[in-house]
Parts: sequence; C-alpha cells; structure tokens
Amino acid sequence: MKIVVLKFGGTSVGTVERIKKVANIIISYIKKRYKVIVVSSAMSGVTNDLAKKSKKISNNFIASEYDVLVSSGEQMSCALIAGRLNHLGYKAQSWMGWQVPIFTEGNHSSSRISQINKKKINKFLQSGGIPIITGFQGINLNNRITTLGRGGSDASAIMCAKFFKAQKCIIYTDVDGVYTSDPNTLKKAKKIKVISYEEMLEMASLGAKVMQPASLQDARLNRIDIDVKSSFTNKEGTLITKKKNIYSNKNIRGVSFTKNDAKVTLVGVKDKPGVAASVFKPFYQNYINVDMVVQTSSGNKEETDITFTIKSDDLLKTLKFIKQNKKIKYRDLIVNKNVSKVSIVGVGMITTPGVTYRMFQTLANKGINILVIATSEIKISVLIGKKFVKKAISALHKEFKLDN
Ligand code: ADP
Ligand code: ASP
Ligand code: MG
Repeated sequence: MKIVVLKFGGTSVGTVERIKKVANIIISYIKKRYKVIVVSSAMSGVTNDLAKKSKKISNNFIASEYDVLVSSGEQMSCALIAGRLNHLGYKAQSWMGWQVPIFTEGNHSSSRISQINKKKINKFLQSGGIPIITGFQGINLNNRITTLGRGGSDASAIMCAKFFKAQKCIIYTDVDGVYTSDPNTLKKAKKIKVISYEEMLEMASLGAKVMQPASLQDARLNRIDIDVKSSFTNKEGTLITKKKNIYSNKNIRGVSFTKNDAKVTLVGVKDKPGVAASVFKPFYQNYINVDMVVQTSSGNKEETDITFTIKSDDLLKTLKFIKQNKKIKYRDLIVNKNVSKVSIVGVGMITTPGVTYRMFQTLANKGINILVIATSEIKISVLIGKKFVKKAISALHKEFKLDN
C-alpha cells in the first residue's frame, strides 16, 4: 500500500469553508492512488477556549479531566472532515484516539505515543476507506484519555507515519513552509527548502511554533521525513530530514523568539551547597519548566543572586512556591514580565568562529541590553526586553545573511 499521512492544523480546519478545501486536498491524493490517513487538529481557537474554561472552573483542574476536555475539539473537526468526504461520495470515517487505539505513556497533558494498533485502520484502508484520526490524543494503560502537549497533532501525524510505514508525512498548516524566522512577525523572512531535524528541533524549542518540538524528536528518532506545506496555496514547502541529505552554505539557519517569558531574580541567597536545589525542587514537583538559569559568582563568598526564566503563565504559581519555601532565604525578589528570548540557530556555528561576538555586537549597535545568555552547540540565546524583539530579530536576520 502506498500510504500518505496528511495532517491539518487548526487554521486549516478553522471554518466550514476551509474544511471543504481540506476535503479537496485529501481527494487529490486519493486520485494519485495513495491510501490516505488524515490526522486533524481542532478548529483554531477551540482548544484555547476549552483550556480557558477549565481555568474558570478551577485553578487546579484535575489533569485527567483536563485531557478529556481539551481533546474534545478534535472530535468535532474530524467528524466534519469525514462528513464532507462522505458528502462528496468517498468512504471516510472519523476515529478517536481510543477507538484506534493510540497508546501513550507519560503524564497527562504531556504524554508521548508508544504504540498504535494498526488492525482496524489497515482493514479500513484496504476496503478503500479514508480514516480521519483525531490528533493530539491517545489513551494510557488505565484507558483514560491523554493529550500530547500543545501542538501535539504534529506528533500524532509523525507517529502514524511511523506505525503505518507511510511514504510521506505532510504537515498542512497556515504558512507555506518553515521560514528563517516567523513570517508573520518578520516580513523579510525567507522560506527554507530543506532543514535538519536538529536545527528544526532547536528552532521549534526556541519558539518557532510551526512544529511541535516533541514531534520532531519522534521524527528524528524514527527517521520520518516531513513536508511542511500550506493548505491555502499549492506552493512547494519545506522538507525536514536527516543532516546527511542537506547542503547549506549558511552558518545560521534561523532566528527564533519566544513571546511569553518572565524573569525572576532571587537577590542575596546563601552561597552554599544545596541552595539552588532547594529553590528549584518545588518547581520540578509541580511541573513548572525552568528555562534559562544564571547564578552570579558572589564577591563576598557569602551571598549570590539566582536568576531564571519561566513561561509567564507559570509566574503566579512560581512566586507562590518561592514565598512558601521555608528552606530558602533571600533579601529581595525581582520579577520582570516583559522579557523575550531571541535565539540564533545553525549547525554552521560549530565551525565558524565569531558568531557569538557578532550576535552581541549586532544587539549592542541597536542599543539592546542583554539580560541573560545561554548557549549550546548549535544555538545562542539571549534574553532581552520584549519591546526590542522585532528590532533584534530583524538586525540578526540581516547580520547572518538570512535576508538574501
Ligand atoms: P497549525 O495550527 O497548523 O498547527 P501553528 O499555529 O501551530 O499551526 O503553526 C504555524 C505558525 O507558526 C505560523 O502561523 C507562524 O506564525 C508560526 N511560526 C513561528 N515561527 C515560524 C517559522 N520559523 N516558520 C514558519 N512559521 C513559523
Ligand atoms: N488542538 C491542539 C492544540 O491546540 C493540538 C494541535 O493543534 O496540534 O494544541
Ligand atoms: Mg501547530
């Protein structure tokens, strides 16, 4: 069987008119004699809306019920797609995660797909049917609904491609590929033709929402090539694949940025073993993800400052845990809600000297102050004031020759 997995994101199925277009895209693959497995996200805005409702019910909404709630948007979009295909004379059927079933492991709201039962879907494909599978959801060993983290339909599609041995996995979204930076923020961003899993994973983890980071780990591990395309135009998209298949003369492939970060500084904590661990333990226990961390070396060897960043959504919880923490003492607590992380990404920086200097100098030339720095082999991130983000990404885009 020549199988293709087509994944449609929220905007692509955002209205009834768009769902009609999606049905036509699906049919175009059927006409090319592919067996098509469709994975769909919820209509745009629906998952956000459900998440907001849970917060209004309780600020401690139980995780297992949260997954039942937020996964429900996908049921609606899949039924609408199947309904449209039926209307056009095609045999199609919607499948919830539990009906396939798609098995997951890990915590609620951040589960990972471990196994997909192929029997029923294969039988349906062989009978000429088009299965429309809900993205973002599965079940755990207790038969409860789980979700795969925000943006998790990408992971559903990639794992379907793996288990059904698809020839292609195509992610249909609202932009026509992966760009050097978010094309909706930086108009001069350029489409990237081919990008490695590693670079795409860094870009996504650092804010390029076009692919879910966890889904890229699944793709890399299983060597699934991904095409990212627009469901609105018929242009060629971006291929995400292994490094070996790629030649690029650019040191830096992209500039990513985050939108909702907060910075917290504990001033004057004791400079002795175990203090940092005591600060961060409650965050770990309560699933608060800490991102950048800096501890300044103390002048007097008695006190030090610890600075870290978190998602703004977690700020209130974080401050509550700091204030409740009897194990730590500090002189002052400073919070900055208006910060963003800007990063440059590219495997080329490993072999190119001076990239760090050029990044810092470019920001300095624009009068942008760097608050925190973090680096890895293929990325450099800086934390800056939120209001400078556009200026910073535009200047870095130019400095690293991504404009042309
Ligand atoms: P979908 O609903 O199809 O999953 P998403 O909203 O999750 O779509 O992702 C698509 C969005 O990702 C685009 O609208 C774009 O604004 C954003 N984006 C951020 N960085 C990039 C990038 N480097 N290239 C392309 N899109 C990006
Ligand atoms: N609907 C889910 C979300 O908004 C999954 C997805 O879009 O991939 O996060
Ligand atoms: Mg998405």
